Amino acid sequence: MTLSINCKDAGDPVCTHTMYGETEEELFENAKKHGIEVHGYTEESFNEEMSKNLEHFRKAIRST
Ligand SMILES: [Zn+2]
Repeated sequence: MTLSINCKDAGDPVCTHTMYGETEEELFENAKKHGIEVHGYTEESFNEEMSKNLEHFRKAIRST
């Protein structure tokens, strides 16, 4: 089973990049890398954003 999340579903207005992971933890890590590289987050600001929007983020996760 592969978990995936689309950046747009996670709340970005324009980016449609999809991130993947075998586990939720791996998916979070990949999302963090993407957030830092593409959206200008720092590790701290991303973690803060993630803890605020965790429920929303979880609902946007798809499994295939
Ligand atoms: Zn993005």
